[in-house]
Amino acid sequence: TPVVHDAACIFCKIIKGEIPSKKLIETSHSYSFLDIQPLAKGHALIVPKYHGAKLHDIPDEFLTDILPIAKKLSKALGVDNNGIENPIGYNVLQNNGKIAHQEVSHVHFHVIPKRDKDTGLV
Ligand code: 5GP
Ligand code: ZN
Repeated sequence: TPVVHDAACIFCKIIKGEIPSKKLIETSHSYSFLDIQPLAKGHALIVPKYHGAKLHDIPDEFLTDILPIAKKLSKALGVDNNGIENPIGYNVLQNNGKIAHQEVSHVHFHVIPKRDKDTGLV
């Protein structure tokens, strides 16, 4: 399957390196990086290297490594390691359509760390 880009898309530009990003994990089919307006320290986005606005627009082969990457990111954050900065949980979520709070029209999965609110680190 050819990799499809939209020249005007922010996330396609990030994948191509035309807009800088804090890259985390890159595979042949996906790219992950830190969110520019993090909801918590370590808030990451995982995007398929295929331009499509909604989940159902993306060919399966561009989706298969996304959950394994989410697992790796959660391990890198130290979830369950009980350190002061380590999150004790996390959300994985993906919005489709304005009504569902999607702002960028290139499919992306959020990995959002959750720490004890009393630590004040979020
Ligand atoms: P959505 O609301 O579409 O699910 O989430 C879009 C996310 O993309 C937001 O959390 C926003 O902060 C992030 N974002 C938007 N533009 C950029 C950018 O240029 N670079 C990075 N790293 N994140 C971005
Ligand atoms: Zn795109």
